[in-house]
Amino acid sequence: MEHELTVDYQDDIGTLKPFPQRMTVFSRVQWDKTCIGYGKKEQSTTKGKPGYSRLDLALQSASRTIQSKVGYSKEEIKDTERYEPQDVSEFTEQVKNAARLYGAAAVGICQLNPLWLYANDQGESVSLPEGVDKAIVIAVEMAREWVALSPTAGGAAASGNGYSKMAFTAACMAEFLRNLGLQAMASGNDTALSIPLAIDAGLGECGRNGSLITHQFGSRIRLCKVFTDAPLQLDEPIEFGIIRYCETCQKCAEACPAQAIPYGERTIEGVCSSNNPGVLKWHTHAEKCLNFWRVNGVSCMNCIKSCPFSNV
Ligand code: SF4
Ligand code: SF4
Repeated sequence: MEHELTVDYQDDIGTLKPFPQRMTVFSRVQWDKTCIGYGKKEQSTTKGKPGYSRLDLALQSASRTIQSKVGYSKEEIKDTERYEPQDVSEFTEQVKNAARLYGAAAVGICQLNPLWLYANDQGESVSLPEGVDKAIVIAVEMAREWVALSPTAGGAAASGNGYSKMAFTAACMAEFLRNLGLQAMASGNDTALSIPLAIDAGLGECGRNGSLITHQFGSRIRLCKVFTDAPLQLDEPIEFGIIRYCETCQKCAEACPAQAIPYGERTIEGVCSSNNPGVLKWHTHAEKCLNFWRVNGVSCMNCIKSCPFSNV
């Protein structure tokens, strides 16, 4: 099968720059007066309604416990002899098996493209320790029956549960590699953009909904990664027709309560300051999206739920 990169950064390398983490909408809403929702307090209009009861909200809040109370371990390399596998291919399969044991629904490995690392205040990619040149990218599954409840608190609980699984899986994976004397850093949404890394690692393609679409679970996944210097075989990007399918399907755009997902063609330019220009894709209006979350009281996943590939 011939593979093609589904994020066409090779053609647009001149304009694409590392994205500053402070420009994500979650950050901008705290400091950028031009961002929709800046300075506004919680605006939930849903409390007490069906799907947003006290019980629903308690369930949703607790779903993030592992991420919020345990998080990702950022320990340094262990003082133990470095493991040198006889057979890199076999070792790669053992590493992927470990990821599955700890909760991965899918796992791939890519060379770490510095373009996907967040930029610091000087616009340069944040630096990782010398020798760390790969990312093990892991998708964890979100439960179908709970995603189906989006945009209520039940749907947000599926998302929160995914965040907890991300932290658990990535933290265990990084510790496993450190036990072998290898460098490994667990990461959730921090440090680097997960979707382009997942594309490079062969996990799927980016759809109109702005999310990764995997072969097996559609967009019903969350992504985490482990940065490492381990000797591992790399995967390649895959192509299974998502871009062409999305060109005519617009279900996610129709299902978005914030009208934040574009109709029409992919563009190089973004639609708000929280998009990264220079990548040919459908750019979601992140400010409109987050503003709906505030009114809704909890996060939304209508664009994941409505995608036929998510099979909800
Ligand atoms: S999360 Fe909800 S509001 Fe945001 S883009 Fe998806 S469907 Fe729209
Ligand atoms: S709902 Fe349709 S247009 Fe949107 S991401 Fe899924 S396949 Fe693409």
